[in-house]
Amino acid sequence: MDNGLGYWSYKHADLNADREAFVQGESRVTYALFNVRTNKLASALEGIGVGKGDRVALLSTNSIEFMEVLFAVAKLGAICVPLNFRLAGPELAYAIVNSESRALFYSADLHGSTQAALSVPEVVDLQHVVCIPVDEADNAVDVPDGVTLLGYEALLESGRPQDAHHAVDADDPLLILYTSGTTGRPKGAMLTHHNMYANAIHLILAGQGLSRYDKTITPCPLFHVGGLCVHTVPLFYTGGCTVIMREFDPAGLLKMMEQEKATVEFLVPAMWSAVVRVPDFDSYDLSALRYTQSGGAPCPITVIEFLQSKGWDFLEGFGMTETCAGAMVLDADNATRKLGAVGKPVMHDDARVVDEAGADVPQGTVGELVMRGPNIFIGYWKMPDATADAIRDGWFHTGDLARIDDEGFFWIVDRKKDMIITGGENVYPIETEQVLHHHPAIADVAVIGVPDEKWGETVVAVVVPEPGATLAAEEVIGYARERIARYKAPTRVEMIEELPRNATGKILKRELRRIYTGREESVSR
Ligand code: ATP
Ligand code: MG
Repeated sequence: MDNGLGYWSYKHADLNADREAFVQGESRVTYALFNVRTNKLASALEGIGVGKGDRVALLSTNSIEFMEVLFAVAKLGAICVPLNFRLAGPELAYAIVNSESRALFYSADLHGSTQAALSVPEVVDLQHVVCIPVDEADNAVDVPDGVTLLGYEALLESGRPQDAHHAVDADDPLLILYTSGTTGRPKGAMLTHHNMYANAIHLILAGQGLSRYDKTITPCPLFHVGGLCVHTVPLFYTGGCTVIMREFDPAGLLKMMEQEKATVEFLVPAMWSAVVRVPDFDSYDLSALRYTQSGGAPCPITVIEFLQSKGWDFLEGFGMTETCAGAMVLDADNATRKLGAVGKPVMHDDARVVDEAGADVPQGTVGELVMRGPNIFIGYWKMPDATADAIRDGWFHTGDLARIDDEGFFWIVDRKKDMIITGGENVYPIETEQVLHHHPAIADVAVIGVPDEKWGETVVAVVVPEPGATLAAEEVIGYARERIARYKAPTRVEMIEELPRNATGKILKRELRRIYTGREESVSR
């Protein structure tokens, strides 16, 4: 018995051999087959010199092979480094170099950015590059001298199919998972096997009892906790099934949910916003769906109300890369009563709200959210200062502002870095955004602070009007002033066609501040 992620695979090959673990397009991979394939890949990797603690970079669009690489690496006790495929060549090269990865897996559809990364001369530690075949014709890259280029299936088939049970300690790092890079350069959070296990237990409990009979579709990127750790890995723990969607498409997702009879669905808010706008939403048969879930960014209350109006429970979750996904979940029983809250800490987590000195603030007061628990990361890879800054006295400082209400429910107020101080008053942009989302002519909105001579900062709303709608700035300002304190309402409104977002659908506010102040922002804002 061990708690490593690889063990889950050995075990399910016995307990749930014929059940489907992963589905993508025509491929339906059972737990038995998944175990054999990841055994082979682990043994093949060992054969080319990958061992315990070695880093293996993974640059792949969503695929079953992505999960195979993760589990093969886990079985060896090596460390998987999933990379954000939206990054440019030099950024990818930085991650490969910084993680000192020995091998790189890339999916053939990312041929261009892989080539760009490999062309950066600093990429010297790499020994092997493995091309994962996708539906399209294979695209081999030119590799630097001394590096071998291998084909995924050929490599895998060279391995042994038997279970190997390498010595893996539950506290060994399993992943270096990068944060979204919303506030600056992404940080590599080190997550252990035990973090994954704790998170699985937490989300099985906080969800509505995930089991082997559950199935989800994930279009959320697997290189991020949202796609990987909210449903995909916990469902694997239960013997359930994840249908992997390579590219998000709102109507395509609904069709897939109907065909595959998805029972649970987690999407980031930007995806839910697109899905609820699909014109013939009601024509899809989603009767198998037990509940809907969101997290990773504040979900517009209008979206939550839409999903609830269709009869589904909606679970709001608060999570971070550093918490291996789920840290707090608002259960369905309180979803309406506490609309806008993120609920309570998951089973084995503690959370507090503290002041700058680390002391608890009075109940109801805004302060920084700090957390501890078995799912919390062990540190940022090669960033000792950032780690020491984040984990103090055993408590992880999230950088998020929160308050606790009189019933112990947590409300995320905003990120510390996004708070606006205008005329000495604190404005939390999320509050203003939630109000403006209700305006029928507003499709999307972000609120930021920009420097102001008189007030220090002033509130600016960046608005995407609904298609075909005409919307005047005075209308937006007036709408907000009728509903919230005057200082929280925008003083200026900018119209934009689309808000800048990162790969996990988060609004890049530092980018908006740059556009509307004309100033570059230091990463440490
Ligand atoms: P970086 O740390 O690189 O700037 P990031 O913080 O966006 O990027 P993630 O780990 O993906 O990287 O996201 C965690 C953050 O997302 C939280 O700290 C919080 O600000 C935000 N968040 C997550 N869930 C929610 C939620 N339910 N409501 C509001 N904000 C949320
Ligand atoms: Mg963060």
